Amino acid sequence: MAASTSKLIRGATGDWEVVIGMEVHAQVVSKAKLFSGASAEFGAEPNAHVSPVDAAMPGMLPVINAECVAQAVRSGLGLKAKINLHSHFDRKNYFYPDLPQGYQISQYKDPLVGEGVVVVDVSPNERIEVGIERLHLEQDAGKSLHDQSATESFVDLNRCGVGLMEIVSKPDIHSADEAKAYVAKLRTILRYLGTCDGNMEEGSLRADINVSVRRPGGPSGTRCEIKNVNSIRFIGQAIEAEARRQIGILEDGGTVDQETRLFDPNRGETRSMRSKEEAHDYRYFPDPDLLPLELDQAYVERLAAELPELPDAKKARFVAEYGLSPYEAGVLVADKETADYFEAVVAYAGKRRDPKVVANWITGDVAAYANSVGLSVPQTHLKPAQIAELVDLLAEGTISGKIAKDLLAILIAEEKDADPRAVVEARGLKQVTDLGAIETAVDAIIAANPEKVAQARAKPSMLGWFVGQVMKETGGKANPQSVNAFLRTKLGI
Ligand code: MN
Repeated sequence: MAASTSKLIRGATGDWEVVIGMEVHAQVVSKAKLFSGASAEFGAEPNAHVSPVDAAMPGMLPVINAECVAQAVRSGLGLKAKINLHSHFDRKNYFYPDLPQGYQISQYKDPLVGEGVVVVDVSPNERIEVGIERLHLEQDAGKSLHDQSATESFVDLNRCGVGLMEIVSKPDIHSADEAKAYVAKLRTILRYLGTCDGNMEEGSLRADINVSVRRPGGPSGTRCEIKNVNSIRFIGQAIEAEARRQIGILEDGGTVDQETRLFDPNRGETRSMRSKEEAHDYRYFPDPDLLPLELDQAYVERLAAELPELPDAKKARFVAEYGLSPYEAGVLVADKETADYFEAVVAYAGKRRDPKVVANWITGDVAAYANSVGLSVPQTHLKPAQIAELVDLLAEGTISGKIAKDLLAILIAEEKDADPRAVVEARGLKQVTDLGAIETAVDAIIAANPEKVAQARAKPSMLGWFVGQVMKETGGKANPQSVNAFLRTKLGI
């Protein structure tokens, strides 16, 4: 499919199309490693989680972890992919300094999961579908430590043998924004499924990015692979930098070498790591220590029946059930806990609140506060009960919109666990609905500003200035509808 013009990159000699395919390595959520009983937990002392299998002691044999297989099947189902009832493990032969076996156990010819699809909203009105080529299980390597000593290198084998799902996309991605949105969506799906925690800082999800450029509609260019990019922002930067580099070479009459490159976020550029090897260089062969993996259809169906509601389904339900726009629903369901939080506020204490109003608060002022402290809404101290009470106070007319914002600020900074209703009571924030008091305030402002009154009669849009003055006079507590009504009558506009 040709890229739309907006996605093309303008070079010195014309437009270029970027073609991107991604291989995402997602660490399987499981207590133990893929082929040993050692813990897969992150953050332990170096080499605290190493079994003789992980250390490749002579005579040790791998045993497949059934939970890792179940997690990979769940992930495949979540990607609407074909589950292969027959698959097998292969050895990928390569010198990994932090994988003592000397080869990685992976899946080559017959992966556990075949073709699927991910629907990606790139922006409120741009949706793409990214094809999934395959998903297979493989081992992670350990970690070499070169910065502990000037003369020695060390190795930490805790991660060695931990289960990874390698999720390979088709080359359906055509811009940095699409790539970022794809990885974000993939991460959301895996988190909903509980099959990968998606924690990119801890390396639980990292992307290898294949980038090539070509003239729009022209023959494919030579691709380069950028290894192990571990943040969504860096994925975007790496693609931009690599596409520009390739365009520069081609426009100068050169050729792009197929190679593996690394992205340096400090310099904003990619640099060569090694010339790219082909699959046959790895001398894959079926691992003789492991039986083929045979699943039965009933097992797959049972896992399918137990899947949670996934983001696309939840989004459709939020639109149908709550009348939210697809955009609002998309923002809420991007994080499962935030979606749950929204539903908890709407239905708090057995009442039903206006879902639009609740969505506005959660994606507006509450999200702004959460972002400012680097948290998601549910991770803040603000409880669904507090937001529900605030929405109720506003809906009843007990407080004005302006006071509601002040009240939220109080709950954020001053009285973190307070009951909003009690705060309104204690601080005298109730909206003034006493018409006599409002009229007095209106009269006082009109009497004090004769020249503005004359202006307002000529130009009714001046009304806003008067409303502002009355609200100031009443400490923001006057009922705005009453203020408006009095002003219109008394000013004759
Ligand atoms: Mn891999």
